[in-house]
Amino acid sequence: MERLQETPDGAHPPSQLDWIIIGGGVHGVHIAIRLLGGRHTTADRLRIVDPGPQLLLRWRARVAVTGMSFLRSPSMHHLDEDSYSLERFARVWPSSGEDSFTRPNNRPSTELFDAHCDALIEAHGLEGTHVRDSAVQVNPGEDGVLVELARTGSLRASRVVLALGLGENLDWPDWAPRNDPRVAHIFDPALRPLEASTPRVAIVGGGISAAQVALDAAGRGHEVELICRHAIRSHQYDSDPGWFGPKYMRGFERVRSAATRRELISTARNRGSLPADVEAALRAAVADGSVRLRIEEVQSLESRADGTALTLAGGQRVDADRVLLATGFSGTRPGGELVDRLVERSALPVAPCGFPLVDSELRWHPRIHVSGALAELEIGPIARNIAGARRAGDRIVAACR
Ligand SMILES: Cc1cc2nc3c(=O)[nH]c(=O)nc-3n(C[C@H](O)[C@H](O)[C@H](O)COP(=O)(O)OP(=O)(O)OC[C@H]3O[C@@H](n4cnc5c(N)ncnc54)[C@H](O)[C@@H]3O)c2cc1C
Repeated sequence: MERLQETPDGAHPPSQLDWIIIGGGVHGVHIAIRLLGGRHTTADRLRIVDPGPQLLLRWRARVAVTGMSFLRSPSMHHLDEDSYSLERFARVWPSSGEDSFTRPNNRPSTELFDAHCDALIEAHGLEGTHVRDSAVQVNPGEDGVLVELARTGSLRASRVVLALGLGENLDWPDWAPRNDPRVAHIFDPALRPLEASTPRVAIVGGGISAAQVALDAAGRGHEVELICRHAIRSHQYDSDPGWFGPKYMRGFERVRSAATRRELISTARNRGSLPADVEAALRAAVADGSVRLRIEEVQSLESRADGTALTLAGGQRVDADRVLLATGFSGTRPGGELVDRLVERSALPVAPCGFPLVDSELRWHPRIHVSGALAELEIGPIARNIAGARRAGDRIVAACR
């Protein structure tokens, strides 16, 4: 028997909601704001399902782990509707005295960005829409979609958005043991902070997060080895800014083959790259000896009683008390069993790479839209980013008209 969720004030929502957004990250929150701001629904007819105690928890945790102080993306990329909202907010925001923006491209500080997110969540009453649970099954039917939750029953809505993020799809190298607590992925929610008792830290990875974690650890007095399998790659964004607009997207949209689109996305991504300011900070830390940079592939890791020993392809050995994998996310379809079951039960179309084939309004099923990585065969290489959330918001709102 289907049980209805109670709203935080104890009142039952109407038996069928307008929208359920599964995932309360950057994408889910932006889409909620677009639906509410565009008056396509009201807060009492919308729910955001996410297991975190607060919305945007994953985003904040990942930002905290990297110690990043400015976003990589420009000030126009934020979670509100109007492109200039963040800049306007900055004019009245009582900042802590640190710079609110940095060059190039007027990039906001993480502190400003988060304060803006908090203000939007409050202004739209989004905490009241937040159901603190995980969706385990999505069952679309003729009259609506039933979303079964792990702990608190189920919810029904006319339409659902899957905004699941990349979740636990971490890229975990084959040589890294999974059962040694000294070896961890930086985006594992269970990551333990570095302790003073573990002075030697090896960080494996060559992208912005690896560099930021290395700089942060060095700043806390750890002896840091950064092991990167390629020379430093310098790019301001993780794909060419031509992908933000028609310059490259017009050609992408003309391509009908999903396999070709996948190739275009893979080629367009500047994986493992650093923007100029992070590169400069890293080079300075290497120059002053606070970070030791090794351009080498890791071959193996030996777990020993007194630490871990990494062997590199060139034969060198690196001893470390902690090994942090900053190797990003794997390329497989996110969403785990929830999405696997949905594909199987509802026979939803997928590309050879396993990702959803959706229409231009990001409909995977007449009642189910997707955002983030799940939408990348339609939105292109920027799909996972904040700009991709904004693009997904445009498309989903267009579907309401
Ligand atoms: C360190 C870092 C810095 C970044 N900086 C930038 C930047 O400067 N600019 C930029 O444009 N992009 C940036 N990105 C990329 C991107 O914008 C972020 O990764 C963003 O958080 C993605 O948002 P999301 O909503 O897709 O995923 P997430 O933030 O991971 O949110 C997804 C949510 O869905 C929930 N969820 C998953 N499955 C279920 C389920 N079954 N039921 C209920 N809830 C579920 C998860 O718990 C999670 O809370 C950065 C990424 C990282 C890691």
